[in-house]
Amino acid sequence: MAKKDNSQKIKELMSEPTKIRNMGIVAHIDHGKTTLSDSLLSGAGMLSEKVAGEARALDFLEEEQERGITIQASNISMIHTFKGQEFMINLIDTPGHVDFGGDVTRAMRAVDGALVVLCAVEGAMPQTETVLRQALKERVKPVLFINKVDRLIKELKLKPEEMQQRFIHWINSVNELIKTYAPKDKLAEWLVQVGDGSVAFGSAIDKWALSLPAMHERGLTFKDIIEAYNSDDKEKVQELAKKAPLHEILLDMAITHFPNPKQAQQYRIPTIWKGDLESDVGKALLACSSVGPLILEVTKVTVDEYGEVATGRIFSGKLKQGDTVKLVKGGREERIQQVAMYKGNQRVTIDEAIAGNIVAIVGLKDTFSGETISNIMIEPFEAISHIFEPVVTKAVEAKNPKDLPKLIEVLRGIEKEDPTIRIQINEETGEHLMSGLGELHLEWIEQKIQKYKGVEIQTSEPIVVYRESVTKTSPEAEGKSPNKHNKFYLIVEPLDASVYDALRNGKLENMDIKPKDKEIWKEFHELGMDKDEARAVKSLYESCAFLDMTKGIVQIREVLPMVIDAFKEIVRSGPLSREPVIGVKVKLMDVKLHEDAIHRGPAQVLPAVREGIRVAFEHAAPIMFEPVREIRIDSPVEVMGALTKLVQSRRGSILDMDQTDRYLVMMAKMPVAESFGFTSELRSASSGRAVWSLKDVRFEQLPHSMQTDVITKIRERKGLAQTQY
Ligand code: GDP
Repeated sequence: MAKKDNSQKIKELMSEPTKIRNMGIVAHIDHGKTTLSDSLLSGAGMLSEKVAGEARALDFLEEEQERGITIQASNISMIHTFKGQEFMINLIDTPGHVDFGGDVTRAMRAVDGALVVLCAVEGAMPQTETVLRQALKERVKPVLFINKVDRLIKELKLKPEEMQQRFIHWINSVNELIKTYAPKDKLAEWLVQVGDGSVAFGSAIDKWALSLPAMHERGLTFKDIIEAYNSDDKEKVQELAKKAPLHEILLDMAITHFPNPKQAQQYRIPTIWKGDLESDVGKALLACSSVGPLILEVTKVTVDEYGEVATGRIFSGKLKQGDTVKLVKGGREERIQQVAMYKGNQRVTIDEAIAGNIVAIVGLKDTFSGETISNIMIEPFEAISHIFEPVVTKAVEAKNPKDLPKLIEVLRGIEKEDPTIRIQINEETGEHLMSGLGELHLEWIEQKIQKYKGVEIQTSEPIVVYRESVTKTSPEAEGKSPNKHNKFYLIVEPLDASVYDALRNGKLENMDIKPKDKEIWKEFHELGMDKDEARAVKSLYESCAFLDMTKGIVQIREVLPMVIDAFKEIVRSGPLSREPVIGVKVKLMDVKLHEDAIHRGPAQVLPAVREGIRVAFEHAAPIMFEPVREIRIDSPVEVMGALTKLVQSRRGSILDMDQTDRYLVMMAKMPVAESFGFTSELRSASSGRAVWSLKDVRFEQLPHSMQTDVITKIRERKGLAQTQY
């Protein structure tokens, strides 16, 4: 089938946001994302059938090497007719590799719907969970496709009822995740259900799919599918693909269940943009207005023969070739050399595009994913944060001191490209500290710096990032200002577990609460805080809360922003060892202020509040928390003994074990501090047959016996005095 020239049609659809659906496919590696994308692309007539059979259009890097294709398709656009109307589907690429770099994270910002692909044999795997969590955090609506159903029939020989049972099991496991991580107001709507067609199953390789409504419409049953495979007649399976073509079923599902950009932005913008929603800019973003100011977020940057190509989503206004725009975070202006749309997996230059579309910008220099592009100076989009925080740090130095300026520039670039990397400067020693998700993630970044960016570096041993917290309520502590005229009385106590969990799950976010934000009081109260406290919360910051419990203080409004600044400073750098603080509630109980505003400025207030919090913290039974990984190990049964020993020798514990006659699935947890070198030990303990994958990272109390030692070592490393808190 020759490629149709549908550029004109795409252009028309691009000017009608209600006809657009922006989606991504999320899956564990090997569950069939690439096969599925190619089948969709060929089914929608955007790629010749022959190419789709052999090539993997989205796997562009491999493809590029093999066939010299220069286009990097970070998005593919397809036209699909549903109930007599044409729609445009933008399918953004989400790498399925064990992807430390957070590429999935960034892609989720651009889309409104996520097609979760599960292998029918394996079900939800750790990576399914992480990518789905990330999607839900970005308020992206999920639907489910259970792939590789052919294997259930050919290999596992399941009967119709057994197949159904298995589907129900997988659906329930996905809904458990949705229940935990979906935004509260969307929960009921977002659970995937067989009945409404938000669940489909099929075979990407054989190009058929079905949902319950589609089975009714097309008069197909489980029995028909099983018979087609058992008949040994290839044509029967091909017939299935004709009666229920994969692309038709799945693209119908996308159009029915995913919101269009106008609908989606109404509830996504408050999460991804923290500016004033009542302002003209806020209103334009919420409405996905094509006449508002231009606001675009870059979600991927690739480099090809034309230079840098930035792919991004236009959230408001119009992007035009030749316009001069502001790169808000980069703090500079540039001219848009070329705007391009995607046609299938090709880029085609166009003059302009409006809000709701995913487009490419050619020729921007030094931009990065997460950048906000606009024609006015606006509050940039929220940083695209990953569900896991960086927990391992290494100090980085240039081998050749004259490379230092280049290294600084490269590190800055890497931090922009990869939201899971954090770069800090150790103020005591002046060295650069690079934090990431794990030892391997950092090794990968080191390679990138040396190989691709051309800076020779040396790094320290990896160091674990700890957290500080408290275990009981402190007495009221006083913090006095340097001029002795201002006094702050504070209590520090553990934060309510429900509020902490909500902050960690992304149901609550960092925010400063204004008196008019009454809705949020209700939320705190529902989470179990008493009414007075719920009303007193003034700031949520990095899983800590600040409460103003004072009554009748006239100048409180004026000093509160400074008090909150001091609270945040302590949260970033705690009293025990200057590691970040988690799970702590700081309550301001009373204040005595100098009458004259000159004597109660930041130079007086900040140190006084810091001192008050520190003293209270010290009396609230402070404790260190360490990062602990929950992992899944897949291995043959024979090595079970060796694996158990290995996990236990690293202060780990086994949480669950599932064993079939040959294979073993072990869920375990292990402190990050004990996990260096684990991958290679696992490999040798299992002769290379066991693999592990990351399910979650949490902070747990460091055993009491290790507290002093860890604090002492951190303070030593940071050059802090040992006696003083
Ligand atoms: P990705 O890593 O998620 O992109 O997965 P791929 O699309 O590369 O698929 C992984 C492997 O599963 C490949 O060998 C595919 O041929 C195979 N595969 C994909 N879909 C199906 C399917 O529906 N049935 C079967 N039996 N194999 C499939």
